[in-house]
Amino acid sequence: MTTSSPINSVCVYCGSSPGNDPIFSAEATKLGKLLAEHNIQLVYGGASIGVMGALANAVMKHGGRVTGIIPHGLFKREVAHQGITSLLVVDSMHERKALMAQMADALITLPGGFGTLEELFEMVTWNQIGIHNKPIYMLNTMGFYTPLLSFIEHTVKSGFIKDGQQQLISVTKTPEELMHLLTSGTAGVQTPQEVRP
Ligand code: AMP
Repeated sequence: MTTSSPINSVCVYCGSSPGNDPIFSAEATKLGKLLAEHNIQLVYGGASIGVMGALANAVMKHGGRVTGIIPHGLFKREVAHQGITSLLVVDSMHERKALMAQMADALITLPGGFGTLEELFEMVTWNQIGIHNKPIYMLNTMGFYTPLLSFIEHTVKSGFIKDGQQQLISVTKTPEELMHLLTSGTAGVQTPQEVRP
């Protein structure tokens, strides 16, 4: 699949925790700045904490647009980011994930935990079965996702993922590389950027 249509909005999945290395939030902050500079809207889970908070703060700080989508009643009010362009409150996690994906031209995963992994794999699955055809990018900060990419290769070798389908995830090493792919008109050319294990 190729597309040259401009990317106006991206959905980013990332940790509600900061992780134990400041590099995770630092790289999210770089990406947030780049999104603002390229006038690309951030759509994300609406939290003010962890990598999520760092990313949203950076976009806002540099004059960008941020839409947070948060399920009513699932997260404490103080966790919801009150300083973003718009915060949409929906009824369920399912509604939220569908809306997040729908509002974005591309999907991006930064380091995170179960929530992030679940969102990544749901989006890959939806792409695989044709629910959407949006490009999916991964920011492999400091090789955070390399063990997961190895496991995906293992899954291919074991015959559970068709060879080639792992390329549904475009792996990048830096926010700059990710932004280059997004904005160069090659967004949607889903080639792996990371050396396979
Ligand atoms: P995790 O990686 O387990 O920290 O989960 C982060 C992902 O799940 C984010 O991309 C969000 O979409 C969602 N999420 C988890 N916790 C929260 C929270 N407190 N507020 C908003 N979204 C959250």
